[in-house]
Amino acid sequence: SNMRLILFFGALFGAAWCLETFVGDQVLRVKASSEEEINKLQQLETLEHLQLDFWLHPSNPALPVDIRVPFASLQAVKVFLESHHIEYSILLEDLQMAIDEEKQEMVSNQQRERGTNNFNYGTYHTLESIYSALDDLAAEYPNLVSKQKIGDSYEKRPMYILKFSTGGTNRPAIWIDAGIHSREWVTQATALWTAKKIAAEYGNNPSVTSLLNKMDIFLLLVTNPDGYAFTHTNNRMWRKTRSKNSGSSCIGVDPNRNWDAGFGGPGASNNPCSDSYHGPSANSEVEVKNVVNFIKNHGNIKAFLTLHSYSQLLMFPFGYKCTNPADYNELNAVGKAAASALKSLYGTTYKVGTICSTIYQASGGSIDWSYDYGIKYSFAFELRDTGRYGFLLPASQIIPTAEETWQGLLKIMEHVRDNQ
Ligand SMILES: [Zn+2]
Repeated sequence: SNMRLILFFGALFGAAWCLETFVGDQVLRVKASSEEEINKLQQLETLEHLQLDFWLHPSNPALPVDIRVPFASLQAVKVFLESHHIEYSILLEDLQMAIDEEKQEMVSNQQRERGTNNFNYGTYHTLESIYSALDDLAAEYPNLVSKQKIGDSYEKRPMYILKFSTGGTNRPAIWIDAGIHSREWVTQATALWTAKKIAAEYGNNPSVTSLLNKMDIFLLLVTNPDGYAFTHTNNRMWRKTRSKNSGSSCIGVDPNRNWDAGFGGPGASNNPCSDSYHGPSANSEVEVKNVVNFIKNHGNIKAFLTLHSYSQLLMFPFGYKCTNPADYNELNAVGKAAASALKSLYGTTYKVGTICSTIYQASGGSIDWSYDYGIKYSFAFELRDTGRYGFLLPASQIIPTAEETWQGLLKIMEHVRDNQ
């Protein structure tokens, strides 16, 4: 029992020591009204000692800029904004309170789930819980769903995809991934709901049935498992991978700046401490490399769809350059149709366009790589919301988000089915 005590206090100490808290941190929404004010905000972004976390980066005056400001920097940032007459409001008064509420919801759900033996898709889950849900789905739908490992993460966690297939060999296929940015929790949750939806709709929904009679679907629910685990155990705001950077004490690479598409260009940082650090070379992150290998080995992927949050955007290439892709008209039309299907459910509005035109130039992104690789139907969703909660979207919005996203995904997949 001495040993037990030691273990108990060890765990207690460990948890208290590891967990980063955000007491008194605020998320500010800044409305720049001119190019000049954008420039000022870009200057603010370079002040490393303030430790600011830009949830939305300054790019053009039409878009808001959301900044997580540590308590210790609040006064400096507010003085900066006020002295330059830049308008702002407070989105989240105390980030830790929002995180505590989210945690409380998860804990009470875990108790409910244990009591009822019912898996709840409307709550956030740990990596272990998501992985065991994949096994359950494969067991429940053995003729349609199978789990495959595509490799290990940097910290040696397995990366699993679900394969939805009714037979055939190497059929044309649709790729969907979520959670490449680990703190975007509504994306992993949406992917999990979507997995269940695809399985349940086959044989019932004629559209899904005809799709799966012709094509396979591959779904990678947690593209950045190390980062996702870290958001649960250490830092809810973690975005990057967890790889070590040589010559720096800062950890991790932005895995969506690490693809071989305009690598190292505008909209990616060469500073290992930055949240948009592109890494030492394209595909340096094993999580990215595993996906690239899978897609190349498969050789018959017709659509590449990726889920991010937040901002309510449906984007297609390019991000690393601001010229329109050859298939602009078709991609724009499909994107608009998908956004309108999505909106039909709860009225949620999405902006549609190229990455460069909807947000800003950003290099090394996954859908630019997939498009240049020859996968015409390459789209990135930025799910709910538009900043009221940002990355801390309440669990009560998971299912509505997943339901409406499904309308958009299905619209794209139907077009791929009929045009590939
Ligand atoms: Zn993202």
